Amino acid sequence: MSDKEKAARLHHMRTYGLAKGDPLALPLTMASMFNLPGDPEPGVAGYGRMDNPTWEALEDALGLIEDAPVRVFPSGMAAIAAVLFVVLKAGDRVLIPSDGYYTTRLLADGYLAKLGVEVVTRPTVSIAEGGFEGFALVFLETPSNPGLDVIDLAETCRAVRAAGGVSVVDNTTMTPFGQRPLDLGADVVVASDTKAPGGHSDVLIGHVASRDADLIDGVSQWRKLSGAIPGPFEAWLLYRSLATLELRFERMCNSAEAIAARLAGHPAVDAVRYPGLGEDPAHDVASRQMTRFGFLIGVTLADREAAERLINGCEMLASTTSFGGTHSTAERRARWGDEVAPGFVRLSVGVEPLEPLWAALNRALADLS
Ligand SMILES: *Cc1c(COP(=O)(O)O)cnc(C)c1O
Repeated sequence: MSDKEKAARLHHMRTYGLAKGDPLALPLTMASMFNLPGDPEPGVAGYGRMDNPTWEALEDALGLIEDAPVRVFPSGMAAIAAVLFVVLKAGDRVLIPSDGYYTTRLLADGYLAKLGVEVVTRPTVSIAEGGFEGFALVFLETPSNPGLDVIDLAETCRAVRAAGGVSVVDNTTMTPFGQRPLDLGADVVVASDTKAPGGHSDVLIGHVASRDADLIDGVSQWRKLSGAIPGPFEAWLLYRSLATLELRFERMCNSAEAIAARLAGHPAVDAVRYPGLGEDPAHDVASRQMTRFGFLIGVTLADREAAERLINGCEMLASTTSFGGTHSTAERRARWGDEVAPGFVRLSVGVEPLEPLWAALNRALADLS
């Protein structure tokens, strides 16, 4: 099924099965207890840590666009933690990108290491060179965040599998509408739906998707026993947001393509990283494996002051650490100690109509000189 077909079906998953008089909108079920006379039965809701019809509707919707079974978690990190703790055991080695989402590394260093898991980190571009022997799990993030390096997922996942490991791809920045790691051979996708899928900057939530039934059973069990369950209201909010994800993502990627090209030609800009630019080092691999080039742009300005002035001086940029909202946002990543230039800004392009957004950016850039 094509991405467009999935996006179209998403709107009718629920409407198709309705009885006369049912609400079209998904009901929000806030419940810790369910009526449970007699013996418990599989598929019959019993207790809110195990079952919730709002989560299940959300998992069906995410499952349609991932084309795989999905389990939802209360945040992207809860989804990542579930996979790491389910797959890894004492004596294992795990490989994590040194230039990826840093909380994953902090979690591994802080908690997996003391349980006897050896944590190894490497930059994303060098992970693509292989050497996966002895790694039980290889964690991948492409494009890397915030550097936007891209590696060949099909080749890397094949090499991880050949070496006996599990490949896990954090697909947060791309969403299933921009890149499909499971179709490229990844064993597991993890994602923070706090970003573009939620999209309205009002909910933290995440998910795990995998076609490996044992892994999905494992993360279901982990969620039930650890209690890392999403709130029904958060699940409902994401379900509602998913209806417009494809539409928002398309606008965001279209605008990002135009803005990246204009920034690349701007005298106030030292360098631009965007996989959609023909001259970007990531362009060839990105063109082969991504369905869109995404909505994140790496912009290097002269120095820290120029970066701060752009972020704070542009009336159409909100200054935030997160990304993927309907509104464009930006952040000087060096403030977290990322290994990027002091003037590096990660720009997250929102759904504002392109020309007013570009005009605002252009005015703020003109003020830098
Ligand atoms: C935000 C983010 C996460 C963590 O997600 P939360 O929902 O904040 O827990 C993980 N990976 C990437 C790439 C992210 O951007």
